[in-house]
Amino acid sequence: VVIEKATPVRSAESPVNVPISNAERIIYPESQITKGQLADYYAAVSPIMLPWIASRPISLVRCPQGRAKKCFFQKHDAGSFGEAVRHVAIEEKDGEEEPYLYIDTAEGLMTCVQMGTIEFHGWGARIEDVEKADRLVFDLDPDVGLDFEAVRSAAFRFRDILKTIGLETFPMVTGGKGVHVIAPLTPRAEWPEVKDFARRLAIAVAQTEPTKFTAALPKAQRKGRIFVDYLRNQRGATAVMPYSARAREGAPVAAPITWKEMETIESPARFHVGDQAELLKRAGLKALSSWGRADQALPDL
Ligand code: ATP
Ligand code: MN
Ligand code: MN
Repeated sequence: VVIEKATPVRSAESPVNVPISNAERIIYPESQITKGQLADYYAAVSPIMLPWIASRPISLVRCPQGRAKKCFFQKHDAGSFGEAVRHVAIEEKDGEEEPYLYIDTAEGLMTCVQMGTIEFHGWGARIEDVEKADRLVFDLDPDVGLDFEAVRSAAFRFRDILKTIGLETFPMVTGGKGVHVIAPLTPRAEWPEVKDFARRLAIAVAQTEPTKFTAALPKAQRKGRIFVDYLRNQRGATAVMPYSARAREGAPVAAPITWKEMETIESPARFHVGDQAELLKRAGLKALSSWGRADQALPDL
């Protein structure tokens, strides 16, 4: 019988004690970050992450043996996570109900981490009513070779356009290559309307500035351009959640920033696992305390 060594994770902000097994296991080989360090990161940021991730259906990127080994994207679960990771039944296209995962406590978050989760992705709707979107996301994906300057100006372009039609937006660096421009919505419109809005706006922008943007799905048509991934805005689609770590080299994390910071930030992978103190401090700053909050509805387009 192998008895796993279980190390409780402690954090002043989040007094949860979910035992983390194999805490010494290297999850990020390039930066030698262990499962225990990843757990410490999540325990620390749980108070600022839970307002965004709690009570919405989630998908997990799990890499139990570390990010360089096999990872899988998990939407459903038969109960192996235990009580702290909750289930919500959602009707699939075929009419069958499937149990989706959600969490609403730090314990739930840490249970996912204990189960080998690196990334947390969430629906743009809450479990109370999964048919109504509570946010719109323009996921700006630069083609290989484009520098961040192009992403930055694309993000401002979307901010300005959305502002013109009455939507306040908030930027998030993904920890990867791009930026998400997020418009919170008071949940009223249902997915078909939300997707149609996002699709038509993406296409309109791409038609106006075809050298910079494309909304075309075939990769060949994205050469040298920013792909406006409007498909984050359909029922069942997910986007990476604020403060989620990424299963990418260097242990970057997705992080809310201000539009002012967008002017000068040098990389979408500016923040990392290990930056929890800085992220907690930032979240308390006035400029970021209202990030992601606006009482607004989808305008007519
Ligand atoms: P980047 O800035 O590098 O683009 P990103 O998080 O926006 O980072 P994308 O590839 O643009 O990455 O986003 C794809 C989205 O699709 C993810 O946010 C995630 O929610 C979802 N996704 C990722 N992997 C899968 C998968 N295997 N199956 C289904 N959906 C996925
Ligand atoms: Mn993206
Ligand atoms: Mn994308």
